[in-house]
Amino acid sequence: LAKSSHFLVSPKEKRMSSIDKNLLSSEVNRRRTFAIISHPDAGKTTMTEKLLLLGGAIRLAGSVKAKKSKKFATSDWMELEKQRGISVSTSVMNFEYRNFICNLLDTPGHQDFSEDTYRTLAAADAAIMLIDAAKGVEPQTIKLFEVCKLRGIPIFTFVNKLDRESRDPLDLMHEIESVLGIATYPMSWPVSSGERFRGIIERETRSLHFFEGRNTTTETVAKIIPLENKEEISALVPEDLLTEALDGLDMVEMAGDEFSSERFLRGELSPVFFGAAMTNFGVRLFLEKFLEMSPSPSAKGSNQGKIEPLSPNFSGFIFKIQANMDPKHRDRIAFLRIVSGVYEAGINVTIPRLNREIRLTQPQQFFAQDRSTLDKAYAGDVVGIYDPGIFTIGDSLVEGGSFSFEGIPSFAPENFAVVRTSSALKRKQLFKGLVQLCQEGTVQMFVDETRAASDPILAAVGSLQFDVLLFRLKNEYNVDCVLDSLAFKHARWTNASSEEIAEAKAATDVVSVRDMQGCSLFLFKNDFTLSYFQEKCNNIKLFRSNSSL
Ligand code: GDP
Repeated sequence: LAKSSHFLVSPKEKRMSSIDKNLLSSEVNRRRTFAIISHPDAGKTTMTEKLLLLGGAIRLAGSVKAKKSKKFATSDWMELEKQRGISVSTSVMNFEYRNFICNLLDTPGHQDFSEDTYRTLAAADAAIMLIDAAKGVEPQTIKLFEVCKLRGIPIFTFVNKLDRESRDPLDLMHEIESVLGIATYPMSWPVSSGERFRGIIERETRSLHFFEGRNTTTETVAKIIPLENKEEISALVPEDLLTEALDGLDMVEMAGDEFSSERFLRGELSPVFFGAAMTNFGVRLFLEKFLEMSPSPSAKGSNQGKIEPLSPNFSGFIFKIQANMDPKHRDRIAFLRIVSGVYEAGINVTIPRLNREIRLTQPQQFFAQDRSTLDKAYAGDVVGIYDPGIFTIGDSLVEGGSFSFEGIPSFAPENFAVVRTSSALKRKQLFKGLVQLCQEGTVQMFVDETRAASDPILAAVGSLQFDVLLFRLKNEYNVDCVLDSLAFKHARWTNASSEEIAEAKAATDVVSVRDMQGCSLFLFKNDFTLSYFQEKCNNIKLFRSNSSL
């Protein structure tokens, strides 16, 4: 009897009962999965490098830069990246610091800013907003910030480049609050900037972290002096600079917000740090506070309620698909954020969208362009899995269940085009490719229902997405195409009724289209036509993302 009951235990049950709950909980609790958001040139690469250095993940500063210069082109992708001098591949950089395991998600910026940048934020539990102290809040910061705000994740602020002439810190706090609509809570406060930069005052301990050097290769170990050691301080910091900094800090303490961890965790209040990433100043203090304050992997909503990270059943969702990373295999890699449980090779999972069960192979981990296999990955981790061409962005993978996670929203595109092929014979092939690539999330596709047989409008957040589309149509579908760009600049989703849409069109000449899910959008040629519309049709609500519908 004992023998036969052994056979009644399914492999899944066996696996579940073998999962050590204490181990799962300690592994999950020490994970931090986050992204850095910033405008190009604020210092994201530099900051990433310093964090990796602190974690011992790289020995030489400059390794991240090497990725940028694309010396190691090994595939078609790399070829495209090389031609354009950009980075298409998302990577996840892992490093350990003390007992924490950090998964730093790379959010491509610069010219390669695209929908993937937004989608990657769906996989992060916290964000670090990096701001150039001389420039303040810049356009790309605003866009990325809005996506984080939509998700309600905690946002840390690091004001960078204090070793350069900077704007008044009070002025910067005010700008963050008024432009982004988030309260600030300075954790430190700078003592001047540029040539006269003397360091930061840590608010909690009321001590000065003295800035003494510009050594960029190794960490500048800051001398930390309690403010009450007046003599020691005055030997290092001119009286007027210290007074100015302390006055600023007093203002913050009197008029600023109090710290509230609830508001912080909801993304309504941002702890602010100051430093100079290039000289490695303020980075360690930041990292330590970040790890202490930022949340461990959080639960995620699904159509069957919240899924907790410590549930032993494995589950996760796909937030990015990367095709053709290896030309020899023409493979696709789906990037999976693990929401709960443990991933190991050989587990069987259901894809609820297809009602299909598949067996997962070994998880892959990516570090810039390198990949390695892992034995186990836990909730919070991001892994790559081979995609035999079945996954779609937003797919859930679930072990022992059939729930689906909340989808990954689409975000307002800013580039629009129609596609054309010179060969009439290739039209069918072209359409097939377009549908598949749109399903994969390469670009968005809209149709204008009022114009019969009109070509679909392709739309992208970043123009690089169009290059990727053309490249893949040629390489995977063997169709040579050209794109004719359309003179639209903004798209906004709407939940207005068809009558309201018809009225709005009559009143303003606006173009309305539908996306692949059948949701309605308006397209606008410029800022002016958008604000004219908002004024004229103020009964109609407009949304920058379809998640708000
Ligand atoms: P990214 O575009 O946001 O990745 O920015 P990078 O990390 O490439 O930095 C842009 C430029 O700013 C580079 O020339 C960096 O050396 C410089 N930079 C970054 N951090 C600092 C800093 O703390 N101080 C100064 N003076 N320059 C910095």
